[in-house]
Amino acid sequence: MLLSLRPDADDAQLAALRALADEGGFELRFLDERRRVAELVGARGPHLRSRLEDLKVVREILDPGQARELHERNGRPDTVVRIGDAVLGGGHASLIAGPCAVESRDRLLEIAHAAHRAGATVLRGGAFKPRTSPHSFQGLGAEGLLLLEEAREATGLAILTEVLDPRDVELVGRSADAFQIGARSMANAALLREVGLAGKPVLLKRGLAATVREFCLAAEYVLDAGNDQVILCERGVRGFDRVTRNLLDLGAVAHLKGATHLPVIVDPSHAAGRADLVPALARAGLAAGADGLIIEAHPRPDEARSDAPQAVSLDDLAQIAADARAILALDGRILAAPRRELVGKGV
Ligand code: PEP
Ligand code: MN
Repeated sequence: MLLSLRPDADDAQLAALRALADEGGFELRFLDERRRVAELVGARGPHLRSRLEDLKVVREILDPGQARELHERNGRPDTVVRIGDAVLGGGHASLIAGPCAVESRDRLLEIAHAAHRAGATVLRGGAFKPRTSPHSFQGLGAEGLLLLEEAREATGLAILTEVLDPRDVELVGRSADAFQIGARSMANAALLREVGLAGKPVLLKRGLAATVREFCLAAEYVLDAGNDQVILCERGVRGFDRVTRNLLDLGAVAHLKGATHLPVIVDPSHAAGRADLVPALARAGLAAGADGLIIEAHPRPDEARSDAPQAVSLDDLAQIAADARAILALDGRILAAPRRELVGKGV
């Protein structure tokens, strides 16, 4: 590992560096007379980088060498994450769709059947909603989880739903096939550790104003807990222009595909905040290399109890799925299809 050191470092700061090297059993060598570049020989393992960055003497890690963090690509093939019939990574992409919030049994089943018909493999609906205002609709809670289970029974779609509180991980995990960690929770270390221990895939959304590094380190918490089933979700970051709700960072999507081994998906709904822009951003996300999409859809978008302006109609959802298949085919990738045929009512 190569380190750039501060030119004004004093003896105490250098001693702190030496103590950390000794603690890890590494040899510390200075590569120039002025002690501005150092090498830690024998340094391995993901834990060292953050510890070194906390030292005053370290200006920058020039090359982590063998001490790569767990999310880093480092020559690894894609990690492939499966949630029911959904496959993400390794040339496979998946469509995740559903309402922002679980609102009622009939409405959820109607959306689930339409999502299945469109070719989605995962139904996403919020039972516990992270609303900006405590006065807004907070979701149906435990009752919403039971409705999601019923929708899975009816369609065969896997269930993805958000968990907001570390104390609810067990409850949500009894119903969900995968956990969503929302943008507002991205930096909740206790929650990240808890879902890391729960042994189910985790869809991690980028924080509202999180850097790519902060996003990766949030994923690192889950990986460090022993769970490598992490999907990164770019959902737009705060921009300066209110014409869209957020600014979809497609550069980050392309970057993360190369820099990490984890699947990356795009959420055009929360990025745009406007249903009319969702199809274009969905196509752009896949063209940038995303391994899937998460789309908010509703049979009567005007009546949605949360995020109504961005909910696409069920017909638009089917068109987004058709576009996705076409774009993925351009670079030899495929959209995972639901295996179960729908029979009877609702088809
Ligand atoms: C959501 O998925 O409905 C949601 C609240 O998204 P985000 O956490 O990205 O704001
Ligand atoms: Mn939403």
